[in-house]
Amino acid sequence: MTKLYLFDIEGTTTDIHFVHKVLFPYSFEKMEEFILGHKNMAPVIEAINQVIQTVSEEEGKELSLAEVIEKLKFWITTDRKHPALKQIQGLIWDSGYSNGAFKGHLYSDVLPFFKKIIAQNSMIGIYSSGSVHAQKLIFGFSVFGDLTPYISYFFDTKVGMKRDGASYLNISKATNLSPSDIHFFSDIPQELAAAQEAGMRVTHLLREGTEKSEFTGIKSFDEF
Ligand SMILES: [Mg+2]
Repeated sequence: MTKLYLFDIEGTTTDIHFVHKVLFPYSFEKMEEFILGHKNMAPVIEAINQVIQTVSEEEGKELSLAEVIEKLKFWITTDRKHPALKQIQGLIWDSGYSNGAFKGHLYSDVLPFFKKIIAQNSMIGIYSSGSVHAQKLIFGFSVFGDLTPYISYFFDTKVGMKRDGASYLNISKATNLSPSDIHFFSDIPQELAAAQEAGMRVTHLLREGTEKSEFTGIKSFDEF
């Protein structure tokens, strides 16, 4: 029997467009106000200095604070994975979630499925390339309220990349479960292949716009 149900987020529990259509635009809109309002806060100072350093190395330019803000906004539009941007976005999203500007999107079949898993005494885990902190925000401030009490484990790329079989072995070690006790759900066939290679059972989530694969597919958890 499956002891741990392990979920990808984007394209599996959550609309793949949530990050790009809700979170990114929100951080873009709030960037200037947030930095000007928190420019004496240690993690903000640290991020500002990282941007100045990167641009100095790459372009040989010393940015003013206004230019740092513009650069961060530009990096949002190009989806640059810079630690300073991630840090500031994380802080902006914290405040957006906690003041109710938006809620973490979850498909309507997720909560009933979580309840079913808990009722059969199995556990729920999350494995996403978004940080554990970001995962906890999506589930903690979700459209269905705080679902974090349902979730036993949160994993991000600290255990490895999602298309690498070794990452799934790391999850099995971290949970003290055999890979065969774990069932992984994702919208990405390469991730399913990596999990299956590690010995997990897998199911392909075929949300709207996702192409079928060689893996068993479901359109919703109601079908599982
Ligand atoms: Mg996904």
